[in-house]
Order: sequence, then structure tokens, then C-alpha cells
Amino acid sequence: MKQDVRVRFAPSPTGPLHIGGVRTALYNYLFARQCGGTMILRIEDTDSNRFVPGAEDYINEALAWLGIGIDEGVREGGEYGPYKQSERRDIYRHYVRQLLDNDKAYIAFDTPQELEAKRAEVKNFQYDASTRMTMRNSLTLSHDQVDKLIGAGEKYVVRFKVEPNREITVHDLIRGDVTINSRIIDDKVLYKSADDLPTYHLANIVDDHLMKVSHVIRGEEWLPSAPLHVLLYEAFGWTDTMPQFVHLPLLLKPDGKGKLSKRDGDRLGFPVFPLEWHDPTSGEISSGYREAGYLPQAVVNFLALLGWNPGDDREIMSMEELISDFSFEHCSKSGAKFDFEKGKWFNHEYIMAMPDDLLAQQFRPVLAQHTSPDNFSNDYITRAVGLVKNRVNFVKELWEQAAFFFVRPQTFAEKDIRKRWKEDTPAQMRELIDVLRGIKDFSSATAEKVVLDWIASRGYHTGNVMNAFRLTVVGECKGPHMFDITELMGKDETIARIERGIELIKPLND
Ligand code: GLU
Repeated sequence: MKQDVRVRFAPSPTGPLHIGGVRTALYNYLFARQCGGTMILRIEDTDSNRFVPGAEDYINEALAWLGIGIDEGVREGGEYGPYKQSERRDIYRHYVRQLLDNDKAYIAFDTPQELEAKRAEVKNFQYDASTRMTMRNSLTLSHDQVDKLIGAGEKYVVRFKVEPNREITVHDLIRGDVTINSRIIDDKVLYKSADDLPTYHLANIVDDHLMKVSHVIRGEEWLPSAPLHVLLYEAFGWTDTMPQFVHLPLLLKPDGKGKLSKRDGDRLGFPVFPLEWHDPTSGEISSGYREAGYLPQAVVNFLALLGWNPGDDREIMSMEELISDFSFEHCSKSGAKFDFEKGKWFNHEYIMAMPDDLLAQQFRPVLAQHTSPDNFSNDYITRAVGLVKNRVNFVKELWEQAAFFFVRPQTFAEKDIRKRWKEDTPAQMRELIDVLRGIKDFSSATAEKVVLDWIASRGYHTGNVMNAFRLTVVGECKGPHMFDITELMGKDETIARIERGIELIKPLND
């Protein structure tokens, strides 16, 4: 029988979700949707020391912003809940007991000080088959002693009894078979009486089993834990339903040397978090893709291609295309360089592809910071934005490119005056005003023809006349096609600006 695809994204709420974690969530989502499967969001909050208030909300908000939908989770509910590990204590207690009863685990009382002393005494000390019989645990103490210590409230942990010299193979859908010897695994702590909570390993395995997870898709940093997880599945007798493992390639620093970190973002000036994060303790603010002006579709597309490719040279892919074409075969084993400039390029492409009226809507708040958008029709704003959008990577940059559509130039670029505004320019501009006045159809192509014909008939230098014209209207010699600008501004405004230019601009001689 074909197993139903059920995947989970299982973040720990220990701070803002890193962009690498977002990619993990995305790949889980793409695979689930492709298979018509289920996407679970499980909150792994068993490490009470590292719990950070606000982190869970942040995760939900980030996934929602990116359009990564969740089918089962804390908010969504589902038949395998609760989906927050701190609410599953009874379940874990039951399974810890099962391991103890089956002699797969044991209780250990060693205090941090005792462990410290042992480490000082034994070189490369590891709590495992070679040392466990020299420690204070239920294998070396009598039943009575153990009961007494527990009765007296002594803190203890439950450790997994890892048998040495077993070759353990993890079948990974990206990496193939990865085999290690159990000798290198220590007797991992599975449960701590101090907070009555399991550790990551126990909770993760129990939940994956109970939630009927079919594929564990997670970052490469969890690959070293996988052999232990295989042993745990065995210890519980769940080998037959063990999920498929998929360990995704690391996200590397832009230069490819080492793992991408928060510090790289600070150093090179790009966000490593999806949303801005306000640290509740330090008050420190970390920048986010959303606040930096990225479109969620662009972030999704960018992340999807960090570690996966469609097998051809396509780069711009919608969520639907990603869902249909995603595959583990085309995931790379080696790390993916975090090419931040490429992220900007994606944003540019998505801005270009966005309908102008939608872009105008997004631009309105930016415009409002400078002038009242209500002074302009929607159509005017939409067309202005449409004329300059190919020059920007972010919506907020539209202002720099389109400001002259909304406010008359306050200054005129000196270097352009020096080059283009000569003694005879004002006279030419006055003539130009007359020519423009005479044009009935002020649309771009018609106006252009009339003006160029006039320039030719007078034997003027086209570059000088057109740039002087542009200088009066835009304030500098840049911007979209001149007659597209004048068509949108209209005849009166165009002429008013030329008149203003004639009055304000004075030739600058070297
Ligand atoms: N809670 C782990 C994390 O924060 C989950 C690892 C896994 O997916 O197994 O990434």
C-alpha cells in the first residue's frame, strides 16, 4: 500500500526563524503539496532554557507571509495533536517508561559536578558502553537505592542504552546511504526529571511516529542525529514505519566559506530572517526580508533555488510551478552559496512582472511620505510607476526614480547644466514651448515626431536640445523616454516646467 505523504516542519521557538529554516519549511511544503500530502507544523519547545517569547508567533507570521500553508498544527488543529511538545508530557512519559521497562534505557543520577570530575579524570570521556558501569545509574545501583534516590527527590535523567559496534545505516533520499558505527554515539539523555520533559531526540522520534510522518525533511545539521534516531526507532519496534530521511544542503556564506550566520547578514548588509525581529531581552532589532521590501513570491523563488534546481535553466518559477517540479533528485548534496545579489534580482523580476496597478497600490504609502497621493489620479500614479519600474529592485526605490512625476524639480543637476545649458539654450527652450503648444495630440510618438522634425529643420544639436528639455522637466538628465514623460504629465505641466527652467537655470561656465 502506498503510504500517505505526511511531512512536518518542526522548529524550536528559540528566536526568530532563520532563513535556512524557512527554506526547510518551503521544501516540506512543496513536497507535501506535490504529493497531495499533509504539512504539519510542530513546535518543539522542550528546551525550556532556550524558550523565547514571541518566537512561535513569529514562525506563524513568517510562514503565512510567504504563503507556506499548514494543514495540521497548533492553530490549525488536527487529529494527532497537541502539536506543541510542551503539551505532550504524558505521552513522552509513557514512552520513556516503555524504554526503561524493555531495558533500552536507564536512569542516571550523575550530577553536573560528578560529570565534570569524570571528564577531568578520563581523557575524551563519553558516557557510553565503555564507561556507563562506572557511573551512578540504575545499571550500577540496586533497585532499592534507585527508588530511594527518586523518593528523596534527587534529580535524574534517562539515558538511551546505545549498544557499541553496530553499523548503522541512514538511507537519505539526497545523500544515499550514510553508515556510521554506533561507537561514536554516546548514551544520549532522553528525559530530564528536573523539568519533566524529554529532550529533542525522544520527543522528535515519538512525535514523528505518532503523527505518522512519512518523510523527515530537515537541514543537514541534523544528519549526525539520524543514526541515533534509527536506533530509537528500533528500540521502540517501529522500524517498519520509520520515515524516509532527507537532509537538505547547508546554506553557505556568500563566499562559500562556512555556514551562513546572522553575523554575515550584519556584515554584508542583508537580512537573514524573513521578518524583522525585535529581541525581547536585548531589544536588538534584526532586519527582515519583508521590511526590507522583498515580495514574498520573490523570497520563495529565491529560496527554492538555493539547493534545488528544476533540471533546466528556468529561474523565475511561481509557487505552483515549484510544487509541480520539485524533486529530491535535483537537490544538491553540497552546500548552497547564499547569493544575496541574486535575491535582489529576483525581487526586481517580480516587480517587473507585477501589474502596474498593484505596484501603484504598494507605492502609495511611499508616495505619502513625500506628498499627498490624493493630488494624483490612480491612473497617473499607475502609469508613472509603470514607466520607471524597470529601474528598481524594491518598491521603496520607486520614489527616487519617479519623484519628478509628483513634485517639480527643486534643484537642477550641476553637471548636466554645465554640459547642456548654454547661452543660446533659453531661446531654444522658448521656441520649444511654441512648438509644444502647437501639438494637438500630445501622445508620445506624435509629440516626439513634431519635436524632432523641428530640431532637424532648425539644424540644432538633438542631444543638447533634448537634454536641456529633460533638465527642465526632470531636474537631471535621467529617466524614462522623454515623450512618455510628457505624455503623462500633459502639455500644461510640461510647458510650465520649461518656463520655470528658463527662469531658474543659469549657465555654469568652467
Ligand atoms: N526542533 C528541531 C529544529 O529546531 C527539529 C529538527 C528536525 O526537523 O528533526 O530544527
